[in-house]
Amino acid sequence: MPRPRRPLIAGNWKMNGLLSDGVTLAGELVALMKGRLNPAFDMVVCPPFTVIADVGKAIAGSGIALGAQDCHAAEKGAHTGDISAVMLADLGCRFVIVGHSERRTNHGETDAIVKAKAEAVVSRRLTAIVCIGETEAERDAGNTLDVVKAQLAGSLPGKASAANVVVAYEPVWAIGTGRTPSDDEVQEVHALIRARLADALGAEEAARLRVLYGGSMKPDNAHALLALPDVDGGLIGGASLKSRDFWAIAESCL
Ligand code: PEP
Repeated sequence: MPRPRRPLIAGNWKMNGLLSDGVTLAGELVALMKGRLNPAFDMVVCPPFTVIADVGKAIAGSGIALGAQDCHAAEKGAHTGDISAVMLADLGCRFVIVGHSERRTNHGETDAIVKAKAEAVVSRRLTAIVCIGETEAERDAGNTLDVVKAQLAGSLPGKASAANVVVAYEPVWAIGTGRTPSDDEVQEVHALIRARLADALGAEEAARLRVLYGGSMKPDNAHALLALPDVDGGLIGGASLKSRDFWAIAESCL
C-alpha cells in the first residue's frame, strides 16, 4: 500500500562542523541524491547558522532542502545573538526546527516561546518542525501521553496546517543515547499526536501532516521505525553527520 504521506528525512547537525566540514557533507549528500532517480523521501539538512549560506549554495538545485535549528520569535531588533525567521528565509531556508529539547532544557524555552517561534516561521511561509517529547522521568511516571498532548497543544502555531508544520516526536531520553522506545511505544505516541491534530485541525489536515520520529534513529533501526503507520520520517542528529548513515536512513523509506 502506498504511504499516505511522503516521508521527510531531516538532519539536525546541531553545533557541529566548521565551514569545510559542512560543505563537504553537503556535497556528499548531493552526489548521493544525483545518483538516485525518484527518491521516495524529501530531505532537509539543518546546519549550524555559521554554515547555512555555504551549505545552501552546495545543495542548490539538488532537491535537498535547507533548514535551520532555531529562530527568534521577533522579526528584528535588540536581540543580541539571535537570528530571525526573516533572515533564515533570506538565506533560502525552507524549514526551521523549533522547540528542540536541547533548546527547551538549555535555554529555558517554554511551550509559549516555542509557539511564538513557530508562528514567526509560518508567517514567513517556511515550515516549522515543532519538537515535543517526554523526559525519562516523565515516561517512568507513566506521563508520556499527557506530556506530549500538553506540549503539542501549547507549541503549535495558530495557523498550523500540513503545509507549514511538521511535528517531531523526540523522547528526550532517546536523543543521543542509542536508546529508543519500542516500535509499539513510538506508534502509540504518533497515533495520539495524529488524533490530537485531528481534533485541532480536522481529520483531513491531520491525515496530511507529517509526524517525524527523532531519537537515536540509525541505519539499523530506521527501517522498522519508518514502517510504522504514523511515522512519516525522521529527525536525525548524530547519524546525520555521516552522509552514508544519513542516506541509508533515507533509503529505508519504502
Ligand atoms: C536530535 O537531536 O534531534 C536527535 C534526534 O539526535 P540523535 O539522532 O543523535 O538522537
